[in-house]
Amino acid sequence: MNDERINAALRDATDTQNVTIATGALASVADLFEQSFGHAAAVVVADEKTFEVAGKDVQQRLEAAGRESVEPYVFPYQPMLYAGYGNIEILRDALREHDAVPLAVGSGTLNDIVKRAAHEVGRPYLCVGTAASMDGYTSFGASIAKDGRKQTLGCPAPRAVLGDVDVLVGAPAWMTASGYADLLCKVTAGADWMVADALGTERIHPKAWSLVHDHLREWTAKPAELRAGDGEAMDGLMEGLIMAGLAMQVAASSRPASGAEHMFSHLWEMEGLGHDEDPPLSHGFKVGVGSISVAALYERVLARDLGDLDVEGIVAEWPAWEEVERRVRATHTVPGLDEYAVEESRAKYVDADGLRKRLELLGELWPGLRERLGGQLMPADELRGLLRAAGCPVSPAEIGLSWEDFRATYTRARTIRRRYNVLDLTVETGIFEECVEELFAPGGFWARDAASRETV
Ligand SMILES: [Zn+2]
Repeated sequence: MNDERINAALRDATDTQNVTIATGALASVADLFEQSFGHAAAVVVADEKTFEVAGKDVQQRLEAAGRESVEPYVFPYQPMLYAGYGNIEILRDALREHDAVPLAVGSGTLNDIVKRAAHEVGRPYLCVGTAASMDGYTSFGASIAKDGRKQTLGCPAPRAVLGDVDVLVGAPAWMTASGYADLLCKVTAGADWMVADALGTERIHPKAWSLVHDHLREWTAKPAELRAGDGEAMDGLMEGLIMAGLAMQVAASSRPASGAEHMFSHLWEMEGLGHDEDPPLSHGFKVGVGSISVAALYERVLARDLGDLDVEGIVAEWPAWEEVERRVRATHTVPGLDEYAVEESRAKYVDADGLRKRLELLGELWPGLRERLGGQLMPADELRGLLRAAGCPVSPAEIGLSWEDFRATYTRARTIRRRYNVLDLTVETGIFEECVEELFAPGGFWARDAASRETV
């Protein structure tokens, strides 16, 4: 880990004060705890598996250092821990029986449960990550299923984070591959932020941008080595994931880490894609396929001159909100999702006058924006190659989606979040249908993918 980079990032982070990622880092857990919480008592929270791989070790080290601790709270390993609000209530009630500061020993789901439960009892916590599987270790908010849908519940990021590279490389291969995809997808997330910034819908936060993008290519350069268990490649991956989380703290938004590719993933999540698999289809795997999809769409966009649009013609065809609402409702089949999508779509809908202004602005800045996007993005083929080398699924079929449902995702994903992205850009410039058509037509990106898989 590059301490200098991490420490510079921590100076601007709102919640997290300390991050230690290194080979053998578990040895410093008692020191890190004391530095972060003084003389508070400690309670290890893990599941049976993560307690075995690191929790027990953490507990012994705390005891050896003379730290007062209470009995560890260990969730069962089977069935696999679910990020549902019920588990937060269970842990919260257990935490109320004492005043010890939790150490979450685990990965995404466990960390999210502890993050929110600790917040509900008014305590900070420390996170010992056991897999480089997503960028949520250093982000605020917990992704939890509540009232029938997945939502981000408010809570601060951990005060301190520790990752032992020896533990991380021992994590299941699919978890590491998932983390790689969650990091590499910042390529398309960044492009979407550039578009939103240019059109004035969401300005780039320079510091947060730099935390994610200054070293992104370096962190993601060695997917095959990562898959083979290389410690250095793991160190880079974890650094990138930690920095992405810190960037969210700095920007007070998930925008630095999430664009249209995350909307593909969230939609599939809400539709229950891969929930019955064992293990369930991961966040990173969905995001990875989403990122390839978005990069392929960007290629169709960048092949066009959006500086030379027939603005009056597009504005004349622009639907009124009532018509948009009808279409949004018609595109969703999951109960409740349509209402939610209408609300989000309403928040970003512009009327004909608003659209005219936006398109005129786009006309002026397109040459510069196109060039910046070209520098930010990578070809969808290259993105796919990197993800494949890391061991990620790279096609709709590999994540259990039919071609029909996959193609419809381009339309549906746009509706579930107000965050401005390339899907909005293509709809508002009147090129969405033809771009998607090109992707699936003979010779198009996804047609070629279908053909190549058939001959394998
Ligand atoms: Zn993510």
